[in-house]
Amino acid sequence: MSRRQISPNSLKILYRLNEAGFQAYIVGGGVRDLLLMQTPKDFDIATDATPEEIKKIFGNARIIGRRFKIVHIQFGREIIEVSTFRAAPENSVAIVGDSLARKVTHLDSAHSENGMLLRDNVYGDIEGDVMRRDFTVNALYYTVQNFAIHDYVQGMADIQRRTLRMIGDPLQRYREDPVRVLRAIRLAAKLDFAIEKNTAAPLQDCARLLESIPPARLFDECLKLFFAGQAQKTYRLLKQYGVFQILFPATGELLDQNDEGTRVLLENALENTDSRIREGKSVTPAFLLAAILWPPLHKLFGQKLAAGTQPLPAMHESAQTIIMAQLERLSIPKRYSIPMREIWEYQLQLPRRSGKHAEIMLGHKRFRAAYDFLLLRESAGEDLQGLGQWWTDYQNASAPEREKMQAEQMKTRHNTRTRKRKRRVKSPGSHSEQ
Ligand code: ATP
Ligand code: MG
Repeated sequence: MSRRQISPNSLKILYRLNEAGFQAYIVGGGVRDLLLMQTPKDFDIATDATPEEIKKIFGNARIIGRRFKIVHIQFGREIIEVSTFRAAPENSVAIVGDSLARKVTHLDSAHSENGMLLRDNVYGDIEGDVMRRDFTVNALYYTVQNFAIHDYVQGMADIQRRTLRMIGDPLQRYREDPVRVLRAIRLAAKLDFAIEKNTAAPLQDCARLLESIPPARLFDECLKLFFAGQAQKTYRLLKQYGVFQILFPATGELLDQNDEGTRVLLENALENTDSRIREGKSVTPAFLLAAILWPPLHKLFGQKLAAGTQPLPAMHESAQTIIMAQLERLSIPKRYSIPMREIWEYQLQLPRRSGKHAEIMLGHKRFRAAYDFLLLRESAGEDLQGLGQWWTDYQNASAPEREKMQAEQMKTRHNTRTRKRKRRVKSPGSHSEQ
């Protein structure tokens, strides 16, 4: 592994910690990705220095204490995470009680009844640290003392075999932290690795455990699942192991009923996401979430129309219901849920194209997303009578052509209205018109 590919700032931290008499390693995705010739997202550091000791060495260090107490060291825009070796959860007390008493600043490891790890701030040594990592390929420790990689769990062999293997007993490790279910799927898709048999076996049953994860953490993990360039592959694995159905229950239900429109819409939306990322275009969680939730929304909307509700309130009420239900699983921040709703509501506006409407629509800040969304719906088989093509043509048209298109709409609209009126006289009970 060449030092040139490693962020100079993280190397600097390793040297400074070594000079102060501590062990220090780069570990996790940074080492793994370099060995696989991929570009690492970040370089995490593990050390036997406590957060307080680290802070004394680095002026630019901040102790962060959410789930674990870790240290962030900031160099300009780069933030490097440094964490103190933690004891392996299952035998933390034993390890702490033996040789590592010096490191124990607080005894703070707790499990819930179902084996979930609640807190684990018990400091340990490198061997303990290895055991609390998830997969063997994530537990390779790189040191600048002899530029070697320390491998306690045959992670190198698994890199070569392109295999994702859980350290320890997979079932127990998923129970300790169900987010590992998502990590297994995300990393298998990202690295194009096979999930080792015993590591894969409990996935299906453990998917349910994700229900106990706070919706905010689950949402963060969800973004990582779908915006790392492998959304489609990730989604297929999520579905295969029954995890997608847990994350998005309403959409999952339609998939389980083999609803073809839902299946195609999701495949296309995720494929678009991946190709946009490949082309360096922007991707927004709001758009993808709007797509994932569209099938159940559309179904509910249809039911409300059939029951006689007007389109606009029907859309509002359906959006409210679908979002409220989804929030129980994933806490979607307002900055995503608001544009998501707008994309949906615009689907009711896009058919109105006569007179000035078309021009006003085009100027809206959400037009582009709403138009892309319309194309997505059509690609999944919704028959919108050429609406997408109309908007494509309209955007490409010259000013006089646009006026002609608007005028034509005016005529069709007039015709539809008279037709509707006539029909209404014939069948006053009909609610099928919009
Ligand atoms: P990415 O490429 O997404 O950064 P990563 O493996 O580096 O992948 P991080 O979230 O950056 O993922 O975590 C860094 C390391 O911390 C992991 O490689 C793993 O060793 C350990 N780790 C992270 N999350 C868990 C977890 N839930 N359980 C056990 N170990 C974990
Ligand atoms: Mg990482």
